[in-house]
Amino acid sequence: MGGNRANGHAHPEPGSFCAAQMCGAADTLREQGYMVEISDLYAMNWGAALDRADFMHPLEGQFKPQAEQVRAAKEGSFAPDVAAELEKLQAADLLVFSSLLWWFSLAALLKGWVDRVFTMGTVYGGGVGTYDTGLFRGRRALLTTGGVVEHYGPNARDGEMNVNLFHIQNGMLRFTVLAPVISYSLVRLTREDRAAQLGRVRGAFETLDEREVASG
Ligand SMILES: Cc1cc2nc3c(=O)[nH]c(=O)nc-3n(C[C@H](O)[C@H](O)[C@H](O)COP(=O)(O)OP(=O)(O)OC[C@H]3O[C@@H](n4cnc5c(N)ncnc54)[C@H](O)[C@@H]3O)c2cc1C
Repeated sequence: MGGNRANGHAHPEPGSFCAAQMCGAADTLREQGYMVEISDLYAMNWGAALDRADFMHPLEGQFKPQAEQVRAAKEGSFAPDVAAELEKLQAADLLVFSSLLWWFSLAALLKGWVDRVFTMGTVYGGGVGTYDTGLFRGRRALLTTGGVVEHYGPNARDGEMNVNLFHIQNGMLRFTVLAPVISYSLVRLTREDRAAQLGRVRGAFETLDEREVASG
């Protein structure tokens, strides 16, 4: 196997389970020959807000984010932090989002990474296609995430996990999105159960080629 893998990771605590999950996945991929690039967004002090500072030469007057993105793509004038992340993304044939469920979604820094790096004219639209006809065609993505197990399911309080993840898997990704790697109810598990779960996470990343595509 092998290839390049970019990872957007958003958790404020390096000793968290979320970080352990991310490191386990990265080690497993390196063992298979992947070159792994990790964007540890808290450690990078990544800013979540898309604004004029994303561009080296924004036009005066009303700020139009998508038009600025298309122009910056043509001119190569993204601000250095956005340009650096775009470079990692363009090189990646596997993209992994590492974030627990925070309010049914990605942690804000990772959502902000998508706002600022999934740019019109480079990743989608502006003549480059969208989703599986855009930058990502032929590439794979998946989420590592977590939540409280009994809250998810057909009749559970928070509904089906895949429905919760639809806005990410379909709204942001929708190229080849593999089934998510979900670690449930981490806070309540015993140390042994958590170690076993980390083993399952590693196992998932050892067998990506056999992993089913996400439903929903
Ligand atoms: C703002 C916010 C919004 C949220 N919204 C939702 C939501 O919408 N839906 C939902 O279901 N949940 C939600 N949650 C809960 C969230 O998903 C949990 O915080 C998460 O599942 C716990 O993960 P963690 O990595 O932060 O846990 P941690 O507290 O870091 O880890 C859990 C335990 O694992 C231990 N651990 C760490 N590393 C290892 C290791 N290597 N081996 C073994 N044990 C280890 C830790 O010491 C700790 O005891 C929300 C939380 C926040 C903060």
